[in-house]
Amino acid sequence: RTLKEYKNETYLDFSDPTNDKAQKKAIEEVRSNFGKEYDLYINGEFVKGDAGTFESKNPSNISETIGVFQSASKEQAFNALGKAWDAFEDWQYVSAKKRADFLFKAADVVRRRRLEINAWMISEAGKNYLEADADTCEAIDFIEYYAYEALRIDDGMDVLSETWGDHNKSFYMPIGAGVSISPWNFPFAIFVGMSVAPIAVGNTVVAKPAPDTPRMGSLLAEIFEEVGLPAGVFNFVTGGDIEVGENLAKHPDTRFISFTGSRAVGLHLNKIAAETHEDQNFLKRMVCELGGKNATVVDEDADLNSAATEIIKGAFGFQGQKCSASSRVVAHQAIYDELLEKVTEKAKALEVGNSKENYISGPVINQKAVDKIMKYIEIGKEEGRLVAGGKRAETENEGYYIEPTVFADVDENARIAQEEIFGPVTAFIKAKDTEDALRIANGVEYGLTGAYFSKDPKKIDNALRKFRVGNLYINRKCTGALVGAQPFGGFKMSGTDAKAGGRDYLKYFLEPKSATLRP
Ligand code: GLU
Repeated sequence: RTLKEYKNETYLDFSDPTNDKAQKKAIEEVRSNFGKEYDLYINGEFVKGDAGTFESKNPSNISETIGVFQSASKEQAFNALGKAWDAFEDWQYVSAKKRADFLFKAADVVRRRRLEINAWMISEAGKNYLEADADTCEAIDFIEYYAYEALRIDDGMDVLSETWGDHNKSFYMPIGAGVSISPWNFPFAIFVGMSVAPIAVGNTVVAKPAPDTPRMGSLLAEIFEEVGLPAGVFNFVTGGDIEVGENLAKHPDTRFISFTGSRAVGLHLNKIAAETHEDQNFLKRMVCELGGKNATVVDEDADLNSAATEIIKGAFGFQGQKCSASSRVVAHQAIYDELLEKVTEKAKALEVGNSKENYISGPVINQKAVDKIMKYIEIGKEEGRLVAGGKRAETENEGYYIEPTVFADVDENARIAQEEIFGPVTAFIKAKDTEDALRIANGVEYGLTGAYFSKDPKKIDNALRKFRVGNLYINRKCTGALVGAQPFGGFKMSGTDAKAGGRDYLKYFLEPKSATLRP
């Protein structure tokens, strides 16, 4: 099998009543299993936690408990890391083909359980059907793409020059056992991608899901158990706070720390990674994907209807809880008013409600998120002109609902134009001309994604060079990067730009070795 066979998984069309019905049925089945208890998965065994349990809640209806999860003690987490190192002894020498076979099998299990996985995600993270299905598809893509990449890397030794009769070769070696700490916003795709990437190239992992979405992580433990991945290669450790992850990151034997999440936690982990311990004999590898304050730039010649549609998707898809979300709109003064009107009208029309009914806008993840977003909305009322939303949304269920919110006439240096909010809030900023718009777009500490709207090839070319972001999209929304097509990761304070789902990613979990053979 080669990378040429790789294709992105296509999303289901939920406007087709057959798909809608099938998804609803899967939700009902999953709901009948709410409240069960799930274990840690260490060295191929499901075990209880030594530090108690915690519950995962449905953000659409907080009286519902998704499941009960284990709090791993520090000793259990360290034991998992030790088992991962034990498993590394063999796994590092297992052929790329064998490793890839496990992964292709795992992808097939995800395909088989797709609607069920979507249903857990709709319930635990508050995604609508399409957002959940896209997340599950992305997980399949990550598994298969990294499997194909592992095969390519295994084949593709560098061609080096012969030196006076000596033969030289270079190849890649896996680096060891490490930790993956993943976020709740792509609770399956990113958890799966961050677990699978190191494993694909011969490393072993202790994976910790976000405390808000542990069920999504436990699904991968079930899948790896089913396909018979050797014990200790993938270990699943949960905990109700960040301590488990932090302790693992600090451990002198942790070879790599792979993190996706907030800037504050990422910088903290980066510092931890840089501290060497007496009995540590390597530099820890740090891979991190942090926040964004992404702009959609709309130039004067843009198609405004299409720009408005894409802004709505980019700003409010999954309630703006994507690090790629368009939390700023920088509009040329000539079209500013017209664009604002179109976006405002569309934002007001977004219906908010329980994700199990597939409302386009669901809840945000938890009370802490509500507090933070509402605080920024209050700040926004001082800093700009509120034109849509601005309140908690009224629904039949008690959940974490907030109206899609748009602020107009925001200064480029205002807090809501500079700080990541991670919710359904976007800020309109007026630009004098194209260059001014790109200057404003670049005037933040992040550099993750951006979108630029114009019909003029010269202007597009200019934006391609000057817009300083890791993922730039022309004439479309700035969210929804596809594995293998739009490798994802950002510049500046957005992280190490490791480019998940791209050719560079697996190298973060490898070290190149050169060998010279004299006959
Ligand atoms: N890869 C996702 C996208 O392109 C965003 C990932 C994230 O929010 O961490 O929208």
